[in-house]
Amino acid sequence: MNSKENNSSKNLEDSIEKLSKNLYLESPDLWIEFSGKVNDNIFDEMVLFFAIKYNYKSIVEHAISNNLIDLNAPSRNNDYPNIKEHLIFIAKQNKSLDILNYLEASSSCNNIDKDTIVKKIDDSTSNSNANKGNKYFPRYLCDHCNHNIFESGYRVSESIEYKYSLENDKPIEVSRKLSNLVVCCNCNKDLKDISIESLNELCSIQNCTNCGSNLTVVGITDKSKMSFDNNLGKFSNISKSYHCSKCDSKISEKQREFFNIVR
Ligand SMILES: [Zn+2]
Ligand SMILES: [Zn+2]
Repeated sequence: MNSKENNSSKNLEDSIEKLSKNLYLESPDLWIEFSGKVNDNIFDEMVLFFAIKYNYKSIVEHAISNNLIDLNAPSRNNDYPNIKEHLIFIAKQNKSLDILNYLEASSSCNNIDKDTIVKKIDDSTSNSNANKGNKYFPRYLCDHCNHNIFESGYRVSESIEYKYSLENDKPIEVSRKLSNLVVCCNCNKDLKDISIESLNELCSIQNCTNCGSNLTVVGITDKSKMSFDNNLGKFSNISKSYHCSKCDSKISEKQREFFNIVR
């Protein structure tokens, strides 16, 4: 082990020890749970939650760089789609900017590429097609290079506004927002006419946008509505709409196209 590695493992040990003290003061039960996990080298969502809350970046780095946690796994907190989103929220809430940048960097283009490669390997190793069955892989072709950006990756940047603060003697962050611009990772050109929201929507096209049920499982109900025609004095003008059979919310235009449902 070289001296640099030595330093970082010393740093990690220090951080774990300090965090352990913080948690002991917060609640001895919490401390027992935390100590048990860390002793077993378990760095899960709960451990990282407190590491971020008390701003110990080295713990977060250790867990992520050694793949001790899958950031894309579902969060135990149902308000977030995955662990990564939950941790990013905690970092923002606690203004742990270093950790926030680190978490966001680990969701950059390279990682999208890596995830996709992993996914591809998974797909090709599960040689039973039946297994893949109805699994939907979203598709959006880049206008410029014709690659499916869900495979080759896409990049969205965040713009952060700083102002100088006399109080802190340094620039401080006043706002941050995602830019609307989506860039293809393969050809590095801008993708017009697509937003991050609509890309997310494409990913869940099989799912009801309201209750999240898989429509190929719960089914789609079609409804016909007749309206009364005053001139003819009778009901006519049938209009049709399509709904999630579970929660009855209307399926989107894109979903209709995707499932090939013609009016
Ligand atoms: Zn491209
Ligand atoms: Zn639904």
